[in-house]
Formats: sequence, C-alpha cells, structure tokens
Amino acid sequence: MSKFFSAKYAKLVPYVPGEQPKDAQYVKLNTNESPFSPPNSVLEAVKTEGGRLQLYSDPESALLTQKTAEVLGVQPSQVLMTNGSDEALNFAFMAFCDENHPIVFPDISYGFYSVFAKLNGIPYKTIPLKDDFSVDYRDYLGVKANVVIANPNAPTGLAISRSEVEEILKSNPENVVIIDEAYVDFGGESCVALIDKYENLLVTQTFSKSRSLAGARLGMAIGNEKLIADLNTIKYSTNPYNVNRMTAAAGFSVLCETEWFETCVRTIKENRESTKTRLQELGFTVLDSKTNFLFAKSDKVSGETLYKELKARGVLVRHFSGERIKDYVRITIGTAEQMQIFLTKTEEILKEKKV
Ligand code: PMP
Repeated sequence: MSKFFSAKYAKLVPYVPGEQPKDAQYVKLNTNESPFSPPNSVLEAVKTEGGRLQLYSDPESALLTQKTAEVLGVQPSQVLMTNGSDEALNFAFMAFCDENHPIVFPDISYGFYSVFAKLNGIPYKTIPLKDDFSVDYRDYLGVKANVVIANPNAPTGLAISRSEVEEILKSNPENVVIIDEAYVDFGGESCVALIDKYENLLVTQTFSKSRSLAGARLGMAIGNEKLIADLNTIKYSTNPYNVNRMTAAAGFSVLCETEWFETCVRTIKENRESTKTRLQELGFTVLDSKTNFLFAKSDKVSGETLYKELKARGVLVRHFSGERIKDYVRITIGTAEQMQIFLTKTEEILKEKKV
C-alpha cells in the first residue's frame, strides 16, 4: 500500500475473481462462462462497430436498451445497461444504501456483495443459509434493511420461488430488494414481471452466462422508472460511456439470436442433469442446481484435494475455503465433451484415493 492510499479503503479486501489462465491448456469449468462462442452475426456486428471506435459510444445505449426492454417485456425507461451486472450491483449499492440504510444478504452467496458494501462504507449483515444451503425467505421478512439475493444463488445453484420473493418485497416496502438474476435463464423464476407491481424491486441480469458475452462486459438493471433514474444519476456521475460501442453492438445482435439462445440453454441444462446423475452414481452429494453450474461434494475426497487433482489433470473447477462449503467444488457446465473429460478425470481421482 502506498502512503497515498486513502484511509477509508485501507482495510478493503478486494473481490478475488476465479482463475483466468493465459493459455488454453485447461478444460475451464471454474468461472461459469458459456462454453459456446457467440454466433457469427455477433462477430460481424462487433467488426462493423470496430470501424467507428474513434467515436464515443451512445451514453444511453438507446438501441440496445430498446431491444433489451422488448425481449424482457418492459419499457426502455425501466432498463439501465451496464458494464457487466457487477456494475449494476455497485450502482445499486451506491444509490440505495448508506450508513442509515444497511443491506442484508445470505452468508453464502456472491462474494462481491460484501466488497461493494465495504467499498461504499455501507453497514451489512449476513443471514445464514439453512443447513441444506437453501435461502429461507422468512429470514428476510421485515428486516428493515435493503436486501440483495442472488436467485438462483451462487455458488449453491439453489433458487427460491417468485412468490417467496414477493413476500420479501411486501414486507419491506421502505427498502429496496435487489434480486440478482445472473443465472435465471437456466431454470430460475424471473421477477422482472413484478417491477410494475413493486416500486422497491430492482432486478439485475447479465449477458455473461446464457448469452456468451462474459468478455464483452454487459449487464443490466431492471426496475421502475424512478429506481432506474437514480441509477442513471450514479452512472452519469461515474462513467457515462459505461457500455462501449462493440459491446453494445454485440449485445444487440445476440438478443436477435433467439433460436441459438434457446439451443445453448437447453444444451447446458441437459449436460447439467447428465453430469449430476453421473456424479451421484459416483457417491457425490449434488445440490439441485437451477444454474449453469453444479455444487457437489464427494464422499471420498475433500473439495480441496479434488480441485487440486483435477487441476493437475488439466480441468479447472472452483473451490471455496469457507468453513461450511469447503467440502464442495463448483463445476461450471460445459459442452458434453468437456463434461466427459471432467467425469473421466474425477473417476480416475476417486479410484486412486481408494487404493
Ligand atoms: N452475480 C452473480 C451471482 C455472479 O455469479 C456473477 C458472475 N461472477 C455476477 C453477478 C456478475 O457477472 P457479470 O458482471 O459478468 O455480469
């Protein structure tokens, strides 16, 4: 730390992203990306837009916002496009939370929530998941604080129902409830349709998972016009051109690829279920995932050993050292071929451990 670093950030522990190896030597199942490249139409759109990079991007991302709103069935004024959904979440923490408006979230969830809270000097409290790792919506009723819940949750993959979210919204009318739907396309129940009914609902979604654009950095916040106007105040006070030209073009074109999108999502779900079955046959406990990853624990090897042994064999998965989840690994769902390699290597490791 330099002597110039602000004291207010001195204790900040930054978010640690999953490993991003520089070479392609790994079967990469560690950061919940899509295994599928974007379709050609997206590559063409990016190329065309590349020829206009001397110009700033449209600060309103108007065409993209309109298309996104159309796909989601909401009004453009109810959508804000952001640099990944991480930015939407940070804007929401900045806009709606402060010393007098704390935030609560599950103790096992997306690691960035506590970082955003600390970064912005926001008091926060975590609420333990149940023993089966589920979120119990009753723990969030009348909490008198803002709420953020990843639904489906990460790294567990479990989801709560829309009607459970409604109970949380109804019981906290003076607080904003942020529902982080990064993984919703793989089996969760979206709350986007509730934004007209609840003025305190903000939903965030991303193009990073089901739409194969993790590297483009594109996400969005969806909520009533006033919430979105507040987020815009933060955006125009930090980074008006937050979505670059090539990303906006990629996002617009990928939203036109409905059939491609449906095929990708269906394939991931199929690969998820077949991998889950095989892991259970191998003695794993596997949570009921509604996402593009599985959270699984072996009855033979520890989470850390499995992670290390898989890495040594060229397969990257994610391991977290938190006490309650240290026995588990999180496995992103890839192509059928990638899952076959993962399973073969896992079987090898289990056999060795038996001897
Ligand atoms: N929320 C959750 C629960 C996530 O797992 C992620 C991805 N790491 C994000 C939000 C942020 O994704 P992105 O910024 O790529 O949209």
